[in-house]
Amino acid sequence: MSEKTLFTRIVEGEIPSDTVYEDETTYAFLDVNPLAPGHTLVIPKAPYERLSEMPPAEAADVFSVLGEITAAVEAAVDADGTTVALNNGEAAGQEVPHVHWHIIPQFEDDTARPIHALFDGAELSDEERSEIAGRIRDNQ
Ligand code: AMP
Repeated sequence: MSEKTLFTRIVEGEIPSDTVYEDETTYAFLDVNPLAPGHTLVIPKAPYERLSEMPPAEAADVFSVLGEITAAVEAAVDADGTTVALNNGEAAGQEVPHVHWHIIPQFEDDTARPIHALFDGAELSDEERSEIAGRIRDNQ
């Protein structure tokens, strides 16, 4: 049997967490190393590693509460907005191999970090972009 993920151990109460939401399929708790006050993680209880492994019904369950949890986080810390992000795979910086959405409060001051600031940008011609779009369509 494969080892439990860190987040499964949190869901099962083996590791304590500041839980902010729970239902049959979804769990949310505060990040222990917050990037901003109120930084919250939202996970499916089942330990899928990557987004593409999640059955659509379970992904829909998580998404059906993600907006509501995000609004509650914003209200709790008086945030002006939030970045909601998922590091999908090790190359994207995913450290815990159990799908999780980060809800990171943002404030209208100089601490704001738009997601575009993370990347240098890719120089692509119109043809290259169209060719990539075609390959994405072909891979569905
Ligand atoms: P990622 O790099 O996207 O895999 O994010 C993993 C996140 O889990 C990091 O932001 C960590 O701070 C957070 N984390 C690790 N251990 C715990 C824990 N015991 N309780 C809450 N959050 C945790």
